[in-house]
Order: sequence, then structure tokens, then C-alpha cells
Amino acid sequence: MNERDTLKINNEGHLEIGGMDTVALAEAFGTPLYVYDEVYIRNMMRTYKNTIIKEYSGNGLVLYASKAFSCMAMYTIAKDEGIGIDVVSGGEIYTAAKSGFPFDRVYMHGNNKTYAELEYALDCKVGTIVVDSLGEAETLNEIAGERGIKQAVLIRINPGIEAHTHAFVQTARTDSKFGFSISGGAAEEMTKQVLAKENLILKGYHCHIGSQIFEKQSFVLAAEKVMNFIAEIRNKTGFEATEVNMGGGFGVWYTDEDASLSATDYAEYLKALIYTIKDKCQEYGLKEPFLLIEPGRSIVAEAGITLYRVGRIKEIPGIRKYVAIDGGMFENPRYALYQSKYTALLANRAKEPCTEKVSIAGKCCESGDLIAVDVSMPEAREGDILAVLTTGAYHYSMASNYNRNLVPPSVIVKDGRADYIIKPQTYEDLIRNDLIPERLK
Ligand SMILES: *Cc1c(COP(=O)(O)O)cnc(C)c1O
Repeated sequence: MNERDTLKINNEGHLEIGGMDTVALAEAFGTPLYVYDEVYIRNMMRTYKNTIIKEYSGNGLVLYASKAFSCMAMYTIAKDEGIGIDVVSGGEIYTAAKSGFPFDRVYMHGNNKTYAELEYALDCKVGTIVVDSLGEAETLNEIAGERGIKQAVLIRINPGIEAHTHAFVQTARTDSKFGFSISGGAAEEMTKQVLAKENLILKGYHCHIGSQIFEKQSFVLAAEKVMNFIAEIRNKTGFEATEVNMGGGFGVWYTDEDASLSATDYAEYLKALIYTIKDKCQEYGLKEPFLLIEPGRSIVAEAGITLYRVGRIKEIPGIRKYVAIDGGMFENPRYALYQSKYTALLANRAKEPCTEKVSIAGKCCESGDLIAVDVSMPEAREGDILAVLTTGAYHYSMASNYNRNLVPPSVIVKDGRADYIIKPQTYEDLIRNDLIPERLK
């Protein structure tokens, strides 16, 4: 148990999220349904923010990595909590603008930002752009010049560390579409190029070493490499970075193969980063840079669950039992994409013991449209409510209308209330942009 816990089983044996009965939610809002606990989201934002205040004299900013779950309500909560956001597309900028988000706290990423997106970013006065190619720096310099502004930028660099959940590897040169390698000199060369651009103000560097990382040492090592690089650049060119953005990637619990971290544990990751940066500043006589982190998944993943209704059940004797639900890869493509593992339970009979292993199948026309394989459950019956846990991040944001299924609505719960933050789609929405040219009629 930890202070972020949002899930409980009530006296009726029903699963609750944020104090709300999930069976009642499924009745009231229908299924499939994404449900988010607001308290959890705010607690995680505060955990990171308060750690920067306490351990680093507030000399930094938490940026919610909005690709995890981008919508106007999330930007409104981030604004309210006094944190920033990162965005990666014109669409995310538009959503933030419509939510009235303060753009001085917006950082823009992307390895291939289009000309139109860069123009739009500058029109909205995006605070900082993380440049990821020389061509981008040139284009940005030109657009800023036309507008008579000086644009703050970071350069995305590769510290040569790749982290995957429980392990990390150090590589001489990272093979990635993102960033410039420290080793081999690409990052240094890019620094000189950007410093020479009259309409760009280079603030420092950004790196993001991966996602779903539990190994504290991989963050520490990345910070060491970035700080070593900053010292080296200062010695060689006289440019001393005033900002360091260490990206996101803090891991979350999906199944009991993953650690279940408390808010204090997440604060420890950030503290490890902060102490590394402080130590390195001492070692090299650098001024402590403004620190940015970009947690996405760890803020919203465990805050969310998806509710489904169980439909047909098919047993292939001796092979497998499939429990089909009214969702699938259109609202959770992560099993199809990465064979991601999930924990599922019957929300209306949450106290019953697990007696069988089943696979949970979606309703799309693909054999690979599964949500979970070989999960332990009580015997499911048609009409049961099935809850899949840890679905707050990279679910709605990756959803599609595949097979012309409707993207499920999202509700947020707090203080015994549930409110839509994304309303249900309708069939009308599906044909909204369809046209039949005259000659086909
Ligand atoms: C994906 C991403 C993040 C967020 O990663 P999480 O694992 O969700 O915390 C942060 N920064 C960048 C640049 C990213 O691409």
C-alpha cells in the first residue's frame, strides 16, 4: 500500500477507484470507459514539484510529458499545479492553447517538426524549443528572424545510455533518430552551430534515455555524462549551459513483475538526479543549472483504469480460453504494439479467487487484437465488468477508430463525483470528414 493508492475493493466486492464504485461507473457511463483518479494525478505532479523545491531550492520545473495523455483537462490540471508541459506536435500545442496554458512553461520536442508547426509554436510563444537537427535550427533561426524575436532553445543530445525497464546499456554511439551523440563530437559540433545562430538563444541540453525505467543508476549515469559534457563544452568554447532537461522515463507497475513505487520512491529517483548534478557542479566549478524533468507515464498511468463489459467467451479445449470484451486495440494498442502485460480483474466480483487462466480478446478483426494473455481470473461470465489496470498513459493518446469503433470517453473522479473530460464519440463523428466526390455519385 502506498499514499498514491487509488484502488480498493468495497464491501460489495466491487472495485473502487478514487472512492467511486466502478460497477456504478460502468452503469452510468457505459463501456468501454477510461477512468482517471484526479487526486493521484495531482499527487504525482506535487511529488516531483516539491522535490525540486526541497532538494534544489526550486531551481527547476516539472514538465508533464503530454504525449502520455493529452487533453484539455490534463493541461488545466498541470496549469493549476503550477508545472509545465512538453508538447510534440501542432495538435498538442493547439490543445494547450485552447486550455489557456501559459506558454512560457511549454517545451516543444520532435525529430521532424514541420515548418508549419515551428511557425505555429512561435505564434503561440512556446517558451523553449528542443532542436533535434541542424536543418531545424536553420529553419527556426529564419522564422524567429522574420518575427524579430530571439527563441530560447535546448539541443537534444544522446549521452550513450539506453535504458530498458530493469537494465541499461552504455553504448559508444546511440543508434537513434533522436538527438546528437556526445561521443564522436556531433553534440559539440551542433552546439557551435546553434551558438552561431543570431536569433537562437542556446540555454542548454535535453536528453531522454528511455521509458519504463526502474534502474536508478541509469538516470545517475545519464546525468553524469551530460554534466561532464557541459564542463567539456565550457572549457572548449566558453559556453556554459544554464538549463539541463533530463527527460522522463520513471517506471510504473503494470503487473507483479514490476515494482510498485510510492510517491517517496519517485522522489528518490529525482533526488538521485539532483545530487548527481550538484556533485558534478562542485567538481567542475559550474553554476547549478535550471533542472527540468519530463515525467509522463509515472504521473498518469496508474491513475487510470479501463472498464469493459465481458461479451462472448470461447474455450478451445486444451489450448486456451478467450474472454472477449467490448474494447480492443482501437482503445489499447499496447499489447499489439509491444506485447505489453496488464493486470485484469472482474470489477463486480473482485473478491472472488482466481480459478483459471484466460486471454482477454478485443473485438477488432485481427487475431493479434488481445489485451492480456494468460491472466489469472475468477471464471468470467457474459455481462461481468472487467477492469484493466494502469491504463492512464499511452492509451487514449494512442487510440484510433480502427474498424470504425468509437474511441471510448474518459471520466475523471474526485470527491465522490465523476465527470467527463472527453465525451463519447458518436457514429456521426466517424463520417464527419468523409466526402463522396461528385463523380462517384
Ligand atoms: C516519451 C517522452 C517523455 C515521457 O516519458 P515517460 O516514460 O512517459 O515518463 C519525456 N520526454 C521525451 C522527450 C519523451 O519522448
